[in-house]
Amino acid sequence: MGILDDVVINAKSVAEAVGRKAGQIVDVSKLRVGVAEVNAEITKRYQTLGQYVYENSREALAADPEAMGKMAELDGLQEQLFAINKELTDKQNKTVCPTCGKHCSNTDVFCSTCGAKLISEPEPEPIPQEGGPNDEAAKAAAQGPEPSVGTMPPREFP
Ligand SMILES: [Zn+2]
Repeated sequence: MGILDDVVINAKSVAEAVGRKAGQIVDVSKLRVGVAEVNAEITKRYQTLGQYVYENSREALAADPEAMGKMAELDGLQEQLFAINKELTDKQNKTVCPTCGKHCSNTDVFCSTCGAKLISEPEPEPIPQEGGPNDEAAKAAAQGPEPSVGTMPPREFP
């Protein structure tokens, strides 16, 4: 008799033993619930661990292209989320705190949650136009008239 036969017989006797006890001790549906619960807990822990790694282990994983790729994917989603949130709050006359991400009123100077200064909306990057007629006008507007701060008005001689 080979090792394999032993294994088969052992498996059979275990199965028979389980079968005998079915209904007394082993409640299959209870076990299934247990499996689902533990699985959910494992998923939650993976999530927590993943978030921890994403937030704290970037430098340690810099040489791991797979990890960095996944982090870059998350970076992209974070940016997407920020952009959608910004659009949403703009439509609601609200602003997003750049520090904690909470929604604040447009008129707030400081975040009501974390106290960070709510910087006013940054100027959008000027889109370079390819030799359009607006180029010269835009340059002129950008340069504008020199501000005469601190210069003396021309003195009038009698
Ligand atoms: Zn804040």
